[in-house]
Amino acid sequence: MKILNLNEGSFPINISMEVDDIGIPNIGKLRRNLIFKAEISKISKNLYKCDGKVEGEFIDRCQNCLENTDLYISSSIDVAIKDKSELLGDSSGQNQTHYQNLEYFDLKQFIEEEVAILYPDIVKCEQECLEKELVQEKEKNLPFKKIRDLIE
Ligand SMILES: [Zn+2]
Repeated sequence: MKILNLNEGSFPINISMEVDDIGIPNIGKLRRNLIFKAEISKISKNLYKCDGKVEGEFIDRCQNCLENTDLYISSSIDVAIKDKSELLGDSSGQNQTHYQNLEYFDLKQFIEEEVAILYPDIVKCEQECLEKELVQEKEKNLPFKKIRDLIE
């Protein structure tokens, strides 16, 4: 666990970190260490910014056919960081803000939150997999539809 005190020290802080387990429920397993590289800079007294990159390879399951599916995440990170005491009543409307205790800033918690945001909601083994199943379902339901039509 890596804790930073963002209220002290000099900025920017350069971070290069590998994570071997991710505490996010319902996502795939890491195939190899997740790589996180970033720079945290101080914008003003209570506003910080994290610019960087996260890269991870997961093994998950296709939600449709349950095949093991490789999932690769590679994304830039551009997030504002504020103290969690500002969470309530913050209506600055910034794209993305991460709230945490700035004095005990838990980097892993930050990374996990970013990965949770980046991780796809629907995991598919291939682009077509879910669509194929939907078509089949429709065809399967046809006889019932006919019967329903007769009853009506
Ligand atoms: Zn599939």
